[in-house]
Amino acid sequence: MYVILLGAPGAGKGTQAHTLVEKLHLAHVASGDLFREALKQGTELGLLAKSYMDRGALVPDEVTIAMIKERLAKPDCDKGVILDGFPRTIEQAKALDDALKGMDKRIDKVLYIKVSNEELIRRLSGRWICRNCQASFHEISRPPKVTGKCDECGGELYQRSDDTVETARKRLEVYFQQTAPLIDYYSQKGILVEVNGEQEIQLVERDLLADLK
Ligand code: AMP
Repeated sequence: MYVILLGAPGAGKGTQAHTLVEKLHLAHVASGDLFREALKQGTELGLLAKSYMDRGALVPDEVTIAMIKERLAKPDCDKGVILDGFPRTIEQAKALDDALKGMDKRIDKVLYIKVSNEELIRRLSGRWICRNCQASFHEISRPPKVTGKCDECGGELYQRSDDTVETARKRLEVYFQQTAPLIDYYSQKGILVEVNGEQEIQLVERDLLADLK
């Protein structure tokens, strides 16, 4: 099963992806995590990605597509994949279709997590992420039990440098210009399902699982 989680930054893709991969035993392929990992390792790819991420801009398609193709070729992807944060442009979506065709696979479903603009800004600016397991918390809607510590693994929580109000606005602008057209792209293919992302986390999870069954 190949599934794409589509939605604006802050819609809850990362949080939901973690639950879905656990429950469905799929591989989690998150382009943003792959860039952050590359940066942590100090690679050329990581440094290049940082220059775009810090501005809230998209990393060029060519680089991103090559990175994802390499990731999808890894053996753990044979059991199926949850794609989180990729594709983000029509060009990426087309490249993904081609790459999967070459592997005799295709996207089975696109789950679009819909959240209003005001809610997205509010969520992005109070977000804290676990350095170890990437679980996501929020100062108001999902505070950790112990300040600065992850409820799930005890890891240290940090605020992403691209989660400032200014960069968050820019990332949303980029989302509406470049990524939102994917809603029509997949809808026309008849594989898009919309889920209300403003419900409680468990209810979003319930709806996503129901759509995948
Ligand atoms: P995310 O963790 O998915 O919010 O991604 C963080 C940042 O990584 C984005 O703001 C982009 O700069 C970059 N990025 C992640 N995924 C992609 C993608 N599919 N295409 C281009 N840039 C991406």
